[in-house]
Amino acid sequence: MFVITKSRFTVTVTLILTAFLSIFAITEFISPPHSQSSKSSSKNPKNIILIIGDGMGMPMINSYRTLKSEKLNTPVQTAWDSYLTGMQMTQPNDPRDNITDSSAAATAMATGTKTYNDAIAVDNNHQRLKSVTEAAKEKKKSVGIVVTSDLTDATPAAFGVHNVSRKNYTEIADQYYDERINGSHKVDVLLGGGAKYFIRNDRNLAEEFRKDGYHYVTTKQDLKKNQHEKLLGLFGEVELDKAIDRENSTPSLKDMTEAALTQLQKNENGFFMLLEGSNIDNAAHENDVVGALSEMEDFEKGVQAALDFAKKDQETLVIITADHSTGGFSYGAEGMTRETGYKWDPSPIIAAKKTPGYMAEKIAEGQDAEKVLSTYVDMKLTENEINQVQNAASQSNTADIQKSIQLIFDKRSFSGWTTLAHTGEDVPVYAYGPGKEKWKGLIDNTQQAKNIFAILEQK
Ligand SMILES: [Zn+2]
Repeated sequence: MFVITKSRFTVTVTLILTAFLSIFAITEFISPPHSQSSKSSSKNPKNIILIIGDGMGMPMINSYRTLKSEKLNTPVQTAWDSYLTGMQMTQPNDPRDNITDSSAAATAMATGTKTYNDAIAVDNNHQRLKSVTEAAKEKKKSVGIVVTSDLTDATPAAFGVHNVSRKNYTEIADQYYDERINGSHKVDVLLGGGAKYFIRNDRNLAEEFRKDGYHYVTTKQDLKKNQHEKLLGLFGEVELDKAIDRENSTPSLKDMTEAALTQLQKNENGFFMLLEGSNIDNAAHENDVVGALSEMEDFEKGVQAALDFAKKDQETLVIITADHSTGGFSYGAEGMTRETGYKWDPSPIIAAKKTPGYMAEKIAEGQDAEKVLSTYVDMKLTENEINQVQNAASQSNTADIQKSIQLIFDKRSFSGWTTLAHTGEDVPVYAYGPGKEKWKGLIDNTQQAKNIFAILEQK
């Protein structure tokens, strides 16, 4: 209790109280208005970016983190590490299979329904399933699909169209143009590869899109100059080259992400964007650690661009995950001893300037194996290693030459592979921004779509 007398005691109390209140006021003043942990996370996001590393299992992330740390000469995290919220289960609803392919996984994440391997946003009875893309469009949001595979590949297709089989590439390309929501095209910004499916003798979909107001680009330089909200970019006949093999005219995932975000953010109702690092999977199917990790680097830069946008914007939810693992890739493998070092070693992978596939093609075209290796591998190889590639070259089979080069990188880095197909273990889930609390713990891959539908329903 305070008494209004000018005793020394009350003056002291008053001074202490004044000091305390001033500190409190200053602290309140300097607190950020939207700290990530409090206000913004309970808000409904205006924009949603779903990012998928195709075939990006946990050991692939471990290896990329180690490689990045080695390059920077200090232990670092990936762009997404600190946003880990849990894991997701990936098994399909297939009478034969309990390991998913990309189409069943993408259908689960796009529609909230499990289906058979090969299905593109249809259920086991071939009935069309509503996707988050369509729900976003119904809410008058803009939609973007940005991938490094061809746009007709399983993951983008399940978010863009509906088909009984992922292998119906031509039909899938047609459907991007033909399927509509309230008379409008479903996807406003379409960036990736697959020109051979969009531009054919019987139909030129690029021209049809152009007539409907889409700007059409085929190079990084034209993509960067784009000012149009409706955009179709095709940067390869099929998928884009692996990041480490790409020419200067081919955009990176980051280039495509930034170009898409520049347009999508113009819609005051917000947007939904699917972003995929598609070729981590392709490289892992070939058991190519050099290609896979170069794709991981390209993927990280794309993720970083999305996160940078979300951090500035404060109304964007970013989810990062994988559809499944590929290749049974392992961080550490046979041959490791106390003498070699009990480790997975990134340095031979850093020494590669091109993928083994790229080098194999040069050798198969008739170039000298030893010369090709010394041009594109920045480390001294043993005679045995050179011999093994020369022997493969003498049989002149490009795939065998590639394998013989890959073996050098696998053995030296202690990278292991168990299959040319997918594996079925759970994959990690990361989330940043308002609404992220819905992604928590071990979830089913269908929960991705269920959460996004719930967010879209709220406003
Ligand atoms: Zn795959």
